[in-house]
Amino acid sequence: MAKRDYYETLGVEKTATKDEIRKAYRKVAMKYHPDRNPDDKSAEEKFKEASEAYEVLSDADKRARYDRFGHQGMRGGADYHEASDIHDIFSRFGDIFGGSSIFDDFFGGAAGGRRRRRQQGTPGSDIRVTLKLTLEEIATGVTKKIKLKRLEACDDCNGTGAEGGGALKDCQVCGGTGEVRSVSRSVFGQFVNIQPCSNCGGEGKVVEEPCKTCKGDGRAEKETIKAVDVPAGVAEGNYMTLQGEGNAGKRGGPNGDMIVVFREIEHEFFVREGDDVVYDLFVAFPDLATGASVEVPTLNGKATLKVPSGSPSGKLLRMRDKGIKRLNRSGFGDLIVRLNVIVPQKLTKREKELLRELKTQPNMSTTVGATKDGFFSKFKS
Ligand SMILES: [Zn+2]
Ligand SMILES: [Zn+2]
Repeated sequence: MAKRDYYETLGVEKTATKDEIRKAYRKVAMKYHPDRNPDDKSAEEKFKEASEAYEVLSDADKRARYDRFGHQGMRGGADYHEASDIHDIFSRFGDIFGGSSIFDDFFGGAAGGRRRRRQQGTPGSDIRVTLKLTLEEIATGVTKKIKLKRLEACDDCNGTGAEGGGALKDCQVCGGTGEVRSVSRSVFGQFVNIQPCSNCGGEGKVVEEPCKTCKGDGRAEKETIKAVDVPAGVAEGNYMTLQGEGNAGKRGGPNGDMIVVFREIEHEFFVREGDDVVYDLFVAFPDLATGASVEVPTLNGKATLKVPSGSPSGKLLRMRDKGIKRLNRSGFGDLIVRLNVIVPQKLTKREKELLRELKTQPNMSTTVGATKDGFFSKFKS
C-alpha cells in the first residue's frame, strides 16, 4: 500500500513550523488514540501513521531528507525507526503529552502527571483491586475512592535508590549497556551470546552508596487513596486498567498498572438481566382484574406504574429507559415489572363474606379449561 504524504497525514502545510507540526500531531494522536478507540484497527493504524510522520517531520535532518527524496529517502537509514509498537510510540513521544502518559489524561489518572523514566530501573508490578458496586451505582456510573497500599518512589532518594538522590554510576561490568556479550566459535561459525548483565540486573547503572531509607530499592510502601471513575453499565468481571497507577518500579523504573475488577453486589429486590432490571411486583386480585395505578421502586426513586385491567398473574410490564445506562453506548435498559397475584393467607370475617358472595357471580368461579390468558370467561358454560 502506498504511504500517505507525511504532511497530509498530520494535516499541515509543507512550510509548517516545528511547533505547528507538534500541535498537529498531538491533535491527531489524541483523536486516534487506542484507548479512545478500543479494538479499532483502523484507528490504531492512523495513530501509528501519525506517529511515524511526526517522528520524521519533527527531526530537522530526517525532514530535509524526506522533503528531498520522499518516502524512499527514509528507507534503510540507520536512525529510521518504523513506528510499529504502540508502547514504543508512547515511550518515545511521551513528552509531547505533557510529561505524563497520554492514558492518564483520558482516564483522570495520575493527576499530578507522574513522570515516567522508562530508560532506567526495573518496572513495577501491577496491582489488582476488586471494587464492589451496587446496582444503583452501576446504573448511573459512580466515582469510588479506593484506599490501598502500594510501592511509591522513596522520598529520601527521589526513587533513585542512591543516598541523597545522587546520580547512579555506570556499571563497570557492562559499561552501562546492561548487556554482556560473549562470543563462541564452532564449526558452524561464530555465535554471539547476549545476556543481561548480572552485576546491574540489566539496568546498566549501579548504586554506589545505597539510600539508607529504602536500602537502594528506590521505593517505599505508602498508603494512598485513588479515585476511580466507574462508567455506567459495567458488569460483573469487567475491569479497567489505570496505566502507571500500580507499584513504582525499582530505582526509577516505570510504574506498574492498577487493574480494577468490578463486582456486582446482589440487590435486595432487583435482578439484573443485561441492561434491563426485573422486579417482582405483588398485586391484589381486584387490582389485576379492574386495573390500578401502583407505585414501584426503580433504580432512582419511585415511579407510578399503570396495571391494565385484566392483567394475568405473570404478565410482564416494561418501563422504558428505567434500567441501566448502556456501557459505551447511548440509551438505557428497561425496568421489567413482573406481576404476581397476592393470595391473602388470613381473611377477616367481612372479607370472607364478600368473597363468598363474589364466587356466586358469573366470572368468579374456578372453571375447568380456564387458561391464564383467557381467564374465566372463555370456557364458561
Ligand atoms: Zn552491568
Ligand atoms: Zn531511598
